[in-house]
Amino acid sequence: MKHIISVIFLLLSIVASSQDQIESIEEINLDNQAPHQIKKYWLKLFDNGLSQPISIPVIIAKGDDSGPVLGLTAAIHGNELNGIKVIQEVLEQININELKGIIIAVPGLNQVSVTQDSRRFFDDEDLNRNFPGKEKGNRSQQYVWQINDKILSKIDYLIDMHTASFGRVNSLYVRADMDNEKMKQMALLQDADIILKNKGVPSAGDNISATRTMRAEAMLKGIPTITIEYGNPQVYQPEMTVRGVNGIKNVLNWLKMHDFETPESNQAVLCKKSYWIYLDQGGLLEVPVKLNQIVEKDEIIGQLRNPFGEIIKTYKSPERGIVIGKSSNPVNMSGGRIIHLGILAD
Ligand SMILES: [Zn+2]
Repeated sequence: MKHIISVIFLLLSIVASSQDQIESIEEINLDNQAPHQIKKYWLKLFDNGLSQPISIPVIIAKGDDSGPVLGLTAAIHGNELNGIKVIQEVLEQININELKGIIIAVPGLNQVSVTQDSRRFFDDEDLNRNFPGKEKGNRSQQYVWQINDKILSKIDYLIDMHTASFGRVNSLYVRADMDNEKMKQMALLQDADIILKNKGVPSAGDNISATRTMRAEAMLKGIPTITIEYGNPQVYQPEMTVRGVNGIKNVLNWLKMHDFETPESNQAVLCKKSYWIYLDQGGLLEVPVKLNQIVEKDEIIGQLRNPFGEIIKTYKSPERGIVIGKSSNPVNMSGGRIIHLGILAD
């Protein structure tokens, strides 16, 4: 018995010491890390109200210097977790002696909100609508500024990982500027159900100083970037992880950073645009269509009942399209979402 207890203590101390060894840093200095090493860091972005650092987990896999720097970021929305698992699995499968270039992976970009099961930041702002941020701005602006300054400045390519929001479910889909050859390739290499053509940056004439997404910010810096939506919020979905990992490995192969064997990717449906269809009344909603289902014009996409079970309104699809996302929460006020409809490219 004594023996077992001492073994348990030994194991606990090994776990504790491996946590202790993770170095805290104020900025990423890629020259400080030797080639052919994977290192884990806590990167400080911010202070909390008791003067303690708020730091994000960063994994840097440094191969030789013959390849680019690929950024992998997950959970800028704190309840979007599948990407965290995708990053962990990809990094586990890297052969660091074979890697060319560098991977900078952030499995938990919005540290504050991940720990609070929340999509939005502490001040109720959406970080992914606040780029480029401000060095001396309010809380979310400063946090975003730090991401911009400490992470985006270091990378050559970016894959930003999301999921649906609370009360909704998603297919595995990619948002990408398909008119750009590099971003098109990055999108086609994903094991996605749907690829949504989406420029992602303000077009000429729009107010370029307006706040924007991280993808837009990265693209304005000349970094080829795609956004991937992996399924549902606040869960790990093993199927999404497997497909997500395959997509990232395909990109690593394409960038000649690694030489993975991967299965053939899904032939994604290409959409030229998409939009949400909203309720104009409140009630209990049923959505009788599946993710990735093609719906025809006038096909029933939603049935709204009052609490007594009486149908108060039936919603139909305004045109032919594919179901990218749908509501999973029956309880909806006026303005609640029914489906995210993708319109197929010609
Ligand atoms: Zn998101």
